Formats: sequence, C-alpha cells, structure tokens
Amino acid sequence: MKRLEGIHHISAITSDAQRNVDFYVGVLGLRLVKKSINQDHTSVYHLFYGDEHAHPGADMTFFEYPGLPRGRAGAGMVSRVLWRVGSPSAIDFWETRLHGLGYSARRTDSGSLVFADWEGLEHELVVVAVSDAPLVAEHPEIPAEHALQGFHAVRAYSAHPEWSAPLLEQTLGFTALGDGAWEARGEQRGGSIIYDAPPAQRPLQGSGTVHHVAWAMYDEDLGAWHRAVLEAGAHASPVIDRHYFNSIYFREPSGVLFELATLGPGFTVDEPLEQLGQKLSLTPQFEHLRDQIEPHLTPLVNPRDAWVRG
Ligand code: ZN
Repeated sequence: MKRLEGIHHISAITSDAQRNVDFYVGVLGLRLVKKSINQDHTSVYHLFYGDEHAHPGADMTFFEYPGLPRGRAGAGMVSRVLWRVGSPSAIDFWETRLHGLGYSARRTDSGSLVFADWEGLEHELVVVAVSDAPLVAEHPEIPAEHALQGFHAVRAYSAHPEWSAPLLEQTLGFTALGDGAWEARGEQRGGSIIYDAPPAQRPLQGSGTVHHVAWAMYDEDLGAWHRAVLEAGAHASPVIDRHYFNSIYFREPSGVLFELATLGPGFTVDEPLEQLGQKLSLTPQFEHLRDQIEPHLTPLVNPRDAWVRG
C-alpha cells in the first residue's frame, strides 16, 4: 500500500452558510466546488470549497448548523488551518487585503500571517519550499501568484503529542519533523499535523471550529488502511461511502478526529467540472427527496456568479 498523500480535506462547522460563502469565496478566493446537504440534517448545507479543479489537498468543507453558538478549540481538536502561498509578497498582499476588508491579521516571528474568519476559525498563510503542485482557484481581485495554494498543515492541541507518535509513525507512515510536527508525504503531496500545548479552557465543538482532518489515500488501498488502523487498536468506523470518496474515521491518541479518504472518484462524479457547485448536489440516497429538500434550504448567493457571468 502506498503512503498517504497529505491532507485530503478539512471539515469545520459554520452557523451561517451565506456568510461562510461570502468569506471563503469572496474573501479567500476559493471556489465553491460542491453544494450539498448535511446528511444528518437535510434542511441545512454541507459546503465544499477548493481549487479550480476541486483536487484533494485544497478542500475545505463546512457543515451548517444555523445559529449554533461559537465553539473554541481545545485539547484534542484542530485549532488552525495552514495554507501555502507562493512568496513573501503573497503574504504582503493578504495582509493588505484582509485589513482592507476589515479583518485583523498578524505576522508571526516566522513571517507567516495569522487571521480568523468571521466566526473565529483560525488560518495561517505560510511560504514553504516544496515541489507539490499549487492548487489555486480564480478570483478577479486575487492575482494568481498570490492565491492560496492548498493545505500545508493543521495545528492541533495536545498535552501529550508523544502519545500520538506510535500511531502516526508506525501505522500511518508519518515522519517526525521535530517540535511536535509530523508529516504524511506521498508521491505527489505532503501535509502535516503540528501539536501545540492546549489552552486551559475546555474544548467546545461549536461554530468556527474544525470537526476533523482527512488524509488522502489511494483508492485501491482502502481495505489495507482499514485493516492497519484496526490492527493498531484504533476504534475505526466501518468504511463509509461519501459518494465523492470513501472514508474511515478514528480518533488518534491525542483525541483529534482523523479521516482517511480516497483520492477518487472526486467531485466531478455527479456534475461536470465547469458547473461544480452551481446546483444542489444530492447523493443517490437523497436524490428522490429533492422536491422535499430543496424548498427548505435558504438559497445561497455565490459571489463567483457575478464575475463569471461578467
Ligand atoms: Zn471528512
């Protein structure tokens, strides 16, 4: 079985789908690549953002729970999403752009840029020397050379990252980078998890928090990864068909919810690349309920529609 290909997607929680679209498409410049429903609550959205081609590696997803109070990241949770950008001048561009749009953003000692979305979910833009293909989307206000280029890492809170080391290294094939960081690197891409000491406050899963991080596996390795995780003693879910990929879920020893997701078949399985995210996508088990589901969803305005039509 081949090694994991870095981060596949990151799923988080929002209290307001429209404001979420306005931020991730309008401000950050990602493409809305799939507009679906929360399979457990079919009256609300599950939104997927990504690069122009909806590749694994740049896919940020949000479950909508309207009105859900804000959460806060704590022990056993992902606290921040790290994105690659192309150069220090891209950091300058984003600092100016975010400030201009009313968001605070601060430089770290290492030169990265940290900011939060409108409901407190933290992001960090980093310049890194890797040969991974940049995964970018198009936005009229964002020059291509400054666009986000896909995930680099997640930061998570753990008081005992060493507890996670055996599963990460021996079972999942991550490499220890030191300073509480481990990288999953395959033939095409790499992605990391970086553990920080947790805050004193108890974690609270609410809006503006990350629910899980998914790592990418080759489709043919699904069964082998499932057996490996079970044999390592992790309490893995059965294989779950997410229509766009197949997944298994388990908590790593620090408590962070991991998913392993197949690279295929991907978001073009039910609509052509040019039309991704325009209409409501329902998986086969919900398609026959479309007439009952769609009227209960609040229509979304996608900022991209205005500039694509010109
Ligand atoms: Zn997921």
